[in-house]
Amino acid sequence: MKDVKRAFREKIVQTGLHMIETGLTVGTWGNISIRDPETDYMYISPSGMEYISIEPEHVVVLDLDTNHVDGEYEPSVEKHMHAAVYRKRRDVNAVVHTHPIYSSAFGVVEMELPAISEDFAQVVGDCVTVALPYELPGTPELGRVAAAALERRNAVLLPRHGALSVGPTMEWALKVCRVLEKNAQIFLLARTLGTPVLFQPEEIETMQSFLKEHYGKRNSNLLTGSQLGERDVNRTRP
Ligand code: 13P
Ligand code: ZN
Repeated sequence: MKDVKRAFREKIVQTGLHMIETGLTVGTWGNISIRDPETDYMYISPSGMEYISIEPEHVVVLDLDTNHVDGEYEPSVEKHMHAAVYRKRRDVNAVVHTHPIYSSAFGVVEMELPAISEDFAQVVGDCVTVALPYELPGTPELGRVAAAALERRNAVLLPRHGALSVGPTMEWALKVCRVLEKNAQIFLLARTLGTPVLFQPEEIETMQSFLKEHYGKRNSNLLTGSQLGERDVNRTRP
């Protein structure tokens, strides 16, 4: 196994632990994948296993038609949903499906969640929609409606189920999971206090361009290649 391929497997293991530790999901639910841009194969978490028990060897490799490529374990039942996103969004290399508390509440009432904080506007978009109609977990239909409802945004809600977050890297997809959950929590709290005031569309566009063009760019450019590399290798959590 080449080192980079091993790194994909390890990243999935670490992300699973992180999801459980931070309460983004519960039990064995939720699932994680990474797309290898070199082969276009996806590395996906095994089905129904406790995150604490998952080892890099349990990760399964599939092509984007969900055909088996490598691995002895059964892949996540949501393989169709992950593959559908990668087929539709070529900018996405990591997909995380969670069963979070606050964001899921919006899916239960089938209510779009608008951006009400800067971080959300920047990393997710103007809002998060609910993937409708309802489709059962693990079905190709769920994959189709989720990928369609995602459009160009980085997250979508699955009604009476959970959330799906994506990004160009696993770090980014995880950031989306956290920011989405935070936005949902703030929105609910704000509604108990009064009427949330929403952004104007041009404010969202400005914040998104700021993130793309400027935010953190100069400081990360000042970090040398070796500093960045060491950090990635040494880090045990995403
Ligand atoms: P897997 O354990 O098969 O990944 O399924 C969990 C889940 O969340 C299904 O939607
Ligand atoms: Zn699920």
